[in-house]
Amino acid sequence: MSSQGKAFADAPARAKQGAGENHNCLREVLRNQQGMTFTFRKQDERFIHTFCAGELIYRIGLTPEQVVGNELCDILPRKEALRKTEHYERAWGGEENVTYEGVVNGVCYLAVMRPIFRDGRVKEVIASCVDITELKKAEEAQRVSEAKYRLIAENISDMIVVIDCHGYVTYVSPSVHTVLEVSPEVFLHQHLQTILPSEQLKRVWQTFQEIMEWKLPRAVTFSCQHRNGSKLILETKGTPVQNEQAEVEQIVFIIRNSTAQVQAEEFLRKMDKIDVVGQLAAGVAHEIRNPVTSIKGFVQLLRRDQWKSEYFDIMLAEFHQLESILREFVFLTQQRSHQFESQNLAQLLRSVTQVAQEEAPAHQMVLEIDDVEETCLWCDQSQIRQVFIHLLSNAVESMPDGGTIRIRALRSGHDQVMIQIVDKGCGMSEERLKRLGEPFYSTKEKGTGLGLMITYKIIQYHDGYIHFSSAPNQGTKVEVYLPLNRPTDTA
Ligand code: ADP
Ligand code: MG
Repeated sequence: MSSQGKAFADAPARAKQGAGENHNCLREVLRNQQGMTFTFRKQDERFIHTFCAGELIYRIGLTPEQVVGNELCDILPRKEALRKTEHYERAWGGEENVTYEGVVNGVCYLAVMRPIFRDGRVKEVIASCVDITELKKAEEAQRVSEAKYRLIAENISDMIVVIDCHGYVTYVSPSVHTVLEVSPEVFLHQHLQTILPSEQLKRVWQTFQEIMEWKLPRAVTFSCQHRNGSKLILETKGTPVQNEQAEVEQIVFIIRNSTAQVQAEEFLRKMDKIDVVGQLAAGVAHEIRNPVTSIKGFVQLLRRDQWKSEYFDIMLAEFHQLESILREFVFLTQQRSHQFESQNLAQLLRSVTQVAQEEAPAHQMVLEIDDVEETCLWCDQSQIRQVFIHLLSNAVESMPDGGTIRIRALRSGHDQVMIQIVDKGCGMSEERLKRLGEPFYSTKEKGTGLGLMITYKIIQYHDGYIHFSSAPNQGTKVEVYLPLNRPTDTA
């Protein structure tokens, strides 16, 4: 036989040998896989495993030897074996991709089965399994944490509303029903602009946009109507939720019904006012007595025809004094409705400084706007004007011979502004500083001692605060802090 002929004669043997090597190689791969592959076939009404390999089988505490040649009830608890037999039955029946999850010895796995057909009949079923223990643990942990948050969200009395970055509502807590008596579903998938009354919309929408832009929490108070027609005041805080790219994906709004609290505060404010009015009444009686006594004296002189023209000047001055006490008294007792609006701080300070400068030409007002050129305050404009006019007039009065008054506005943190008014006037002692804001506390001959009291009240109402630093003959520095967000607006 030629060498070529021999080669031909050996070919089937080599092919057989090659197939054997491939087979071994495949078994090796199957044995070393992380998962598990097994096969079974039905013999005498029993499902007998014909092959089993892979690391997973050892992890569940079995060996391929225990599996091969045996049926499910030989290797698993009876209940588990019966459950799996149902799936085996389906796959043996010819159904493709029958899947089941199994748990053996704390290891969780997913099995996918596929029937192998020969001559149109199922000859064997092959199953591939992967370990899903870690995945299940993670899923369970997430389920528990979600359940915990859901429990909180569904049981707190505050309302929780989640809005996506386009303004659509994606979640509404059930407490909405308790507070508004409206089903939460009514709001779900609605756009913010369709659910809010139009007069409130602008403010809330602006807050929404600010949160999106600055990626910082913002607060807003707005009102809405209860189903029974009554007005509710809702205090809201929106917090942005960012994704990994630091984009705001959604905003979680926690909304508190503060109607009762606001009403209580309103009541307390009124009580406070009544208390102040009581103090004032005593003060006013005292303050009015002096000019009235003086006027009475002059009137008696006039009656006796003993008059001089300067008496009229003195009387007129006394009347002016009475008038200024009464004006400020009226301001305090009036039931003023506060008109909050957004006001550009720089503009307001420029106009106030101009007015003060015109009234005190002997003094020089220097206004410096630092980094707050575009800053807006949510305030009652006329009241805030009154605060600064008053502080400037005190500064002017502290320097009877004229001088420079510096006004400076700057940011203080990201959510407030500070307005400083510095004079080089007579200054004040410690004792005097302590008494600032008391009604009728004045060291001026023609002073009413009501100006600072009103100033304190207005600033307090705007959720701000005021601080004085001063020493005798060293001048005075007044610092007014006002918040940039909208504090107690209950429009
Ligand atoms: P009035 O100006 O009518 O006296 P205020 O309530 O405005 O009443 O001020 C009370 C007192 O506080 C003043 O009488 C004065 O003694 C003191 N005061 C306020 N501002 C200043 C200032 N800038 N410099 C010195 N003293 C001041
Ligand atoms: Mg004053």
